Amino acid sequence: HAEQDGSDDRPHRLVVLAGPTAVGKGTVSAYIREHFPEVWLSVSATTRSPRPGEVDGVHYHFVSTTEFARLERDGELLESAVVHGRNHYGTPRRPVEEALAAHRMALLEIDLQGARQVRENMPEAFFVFLAPPSWEELVRRLVGRGTEDEEERTRRLETAKVELAAEAEFDVTIVNDDVRRAAEELVHLMRTH
Ligand code: 5GP
Repeated sequence: HAEQDGSDDRPHRLVVLAGPTAVGKGTVSAYIREHFPEVWLSVSATTRSPRPGEVDGVHYHFVSTTEFARLERDGELLESAVVHGRNHYGTPRRPVEEALAAHRMALLEIDLQGARQVRENMPEAFFVFLAPPSWEELVRRLVGRGTEDEEERTRRLETAKVELAAEAEFDVTIVNDDVRRAAEELVHLMRTH
């Protein structure tokens, strides 16, 4: 089908974008948020503090540890994970269900643990692995971002090594060599798959 208005009923309405840390998942989803309003982007709940420029309810729902625990306990999260051994992240379930009911192209940008949980709960979803052009490039991006201290960087690199090996579990790989190109490839996939 080539319909692009999101009103048909192709099976893969829910697309999960995952990949190693610092590969640029956040940048790709930010590009999609800005340039492809027809894509519905899930807003995750997290216990981490906002970074400069991040807006509550837009980039994340910033919640307390107590509130996050309540969301989990009440079954309000489709998946949840502790990322980098530190903060909690989770996908609110109801908005995803509403987006799918409205036949929107829905996109979750989450970590690998979360992607595995979604595959358990919603095996009909389509799983996209965002890969770096190379390991060297991934390290360069991780160090270049400069928002984490040495210990945090080391922890994230360890996670990234393990996560790179998970590519085989995914339906398709997109190489993030250029944010715009990768975002356009992802949206093209969402429209045509
Ligand atoms: P950051 O704190 O840099 O925004 O995100 C750290 C990591 O958390 C990224 O790998 C991102 O994909 C992941 N993440 C963001 N939201 C969610 C979520 O709702 N669930 C899971 N499992 N991971 C998430």
